[in-house]
Amino acid sequence: MYDYIKTIIPEERILFHEPMSKHTTFRVGGEADCLIMIHEEQELAKLVRYLNQIEEAYFIVGNGSNLLVGDKGYRGIVIKLDGPMGEVETKGTVIRAGAGALLSKVAAQAKEHGLCGMEFAAGIPGSIGGAVVMNAGAYGGEMREVVKYVKLMTPEGKIIQKNTDEMHFGYRHSLLKEQPLIVLEAAIALVPGEIANIQSRMEELAAKRREKQPLEYPSAGSTFKRPEGYFAAKLIEDAGLRGAFVGGAQVSEKHCGFVVNKNQASSSDVYALIQEIQKKVRESSGVNIEPEVIFIGSFG
Ligand code: FAD
Repeated sequence: MYDYIKTIIPEERILFHEPMSKHTTFRVGGEADCLIMIHEEQELAKLVRYLNQIEEAYFIVGNGSNLLVGDKGYRGIVIKLDGPMGEVETKGTVIRAGAGALLSKVAAQAKEHGLCGMEFAAGIPGSIGGAVVMNAGAYGGEMREVVKYVKLMTPEGKIIQKNTDEMHFGYRHSLLKEQPLIVLEAAIALVPGEIANIQSRMEELAAKRREKQPLEYPSAGSTFKRPEGYFAAKLIEDAGLRGAFVGGAQVSEKHCGFVVNKNQASSSDVYALIQEIQKKVRESSGVNIEPEVIFIGSFG
């Protein structure tokens, strides 16, 4: 398999036994058999067509800010869209951003061009690809409101385009949760605004994050989805779990909705703590809280 892959992708972008702790914001997770950096759509098309043909497992990693990879790692190929696939270009009021671009970079470019609407995303540590998949949102904004269309790749390596209304955006949901597609690029439509106002809104939201969130420890942000009619953090606090530990993983003392890697946690510590939280919350309030974090590899 790798002999063929080396004919498609330059060898320096094929990394064997790559620790996933280096590619996730939790900073945990074992080795992937192989991680491939993709710089061009045509490389990706050939690679996914081949991997599907031979039925080899693969998944796309963005900035790894919503992932928990098991300690035994991932048996298969991790694909990262990198370099030119993270370019950002502004024309008029529309920004075209490659899937690998960080939201912070897109929000910064929007501000420089006096474009308003991406301020909500400036502090979310994800890539455009991951943000489209998750319909990432914060402080009253979400990707659904700014995405005009998305360029995608099918498992056959075909490039297609979907408008926002075809993307099935919902709460932390999109078409990508239903079909094995890959985000290549998103067009973000914004509105003209005053640079000074955009700057001060971004500073205001960054200050709120610093005040409320345990940004000093590795995490994947809010560990659980918001259950209808409740707040996960409140349910976790009411279950008496503020500051609870399993190994090096802790329910943040600052924000109970975050599980943090406090002291060299393993992925199993984080996983066991997530399960413990779900159990205790169910016992104390009768509510089932569902992880927002995506699990990759095997656990337990
Ligand atoms: P990853 O975690 O790498 O991947 C997430 C999913 O997307 C995986 O299934 C992956 O396979 C898939 N994926 C990634 N790229 C592609 C692609 N190009 N094509 C197809 N599939 C792809 N989230 C919010 O919504 N709001 C917040 O306010 C917020 N705050 C956070 C704060 C902190 C400190 C942290 C650590 C996380 C926070 N998050 C928040 C969670 C996270 O940043 C978002 O979910 C983000 O959108 C994930 O993007 P990513 O690039 O890191 O995706």
